[in-house]
Amino acid sequence: MQLIRTFIAADIPLPIQQTMQCHVDSLRHALGDLVRWAPVQNIHLTLKFLGEVSPASVEILTQMLRAEADSYSSFDITIGGLGSFPSSKQARVLWVGIQAPAELKALQHSIEAACARLGYASDPRPFSPHLTIGRVRDHISPADQQKIRKALEETTIDSLGTTRIDSIHLYKSELRPGGSVYTKLFSVPLKNAATT
Ligand code: ATP
Ligand code: MG
Repeated sequence: MQLIRTFIAADIPLPIQQTMQCHVDSLRHALGDLVRWAPVQNIHLTLKFLGEVSPASVEILTQMLRAEADSYSSFDITIGGLGSFPSSKQARVLWVGIQAPAELKALQHSIEAACARLGYASDPRPFSPHLTIGRVRDHISPADQQKIRKALEETTIDSLGTTRIDSIHLYKSELRPGGSVYTKLFSVPLKNAATT
């Protein structure tokens, strides 16, 4: 059986992705190949990574997502700020931050809980909403790690705009040598706050 690598995410509109790209450019120039940079159109807000699932599970997941989305209203998020996981000293993932109302956390918790009921492993880390812009390559030298730290310290990313999150998506992810390819399998609208 063909397994499908999947995750649940919210989209970031192309104009904001492009603005992000411009703001991240100086970092890209400074760090170049030390980081695998996410293609701009791939930048998204992950709500839950599911990993490899069967086609039958995709059907169950879409039903679950439909039910979850029915219980939550759309909300606005503001994008801005720069940081790294797990820390600035040992950067592995470089990200642009998200300022969101409590609805985002509630939605993510609810999806996490629904996935746990379906048997998917829960992420033990607290939800920390972010947009991954790049991943530091493995086995880089301490000098290069220091270079990344300095570049992060010297780069400021202010607010890049506000966008409404009004739907969530189940994505297929194909890991290819040239970079991951994401394909939308299913989308569900959140309740419209204005009509509730
Ligand atoms: P690549 O692995 O080639 O850098 P990617 O990480 O974007 O690409 P996936 O590994 O399929 O592609 O991940 C899809 C989404 O799920 C991304 O947002 C990623 O950060 C997130 N993700 C992947 N693995 C995990 C994990 N173990 N725990 C939490 N989130 C994960
Ligand atoms: Mg990955």
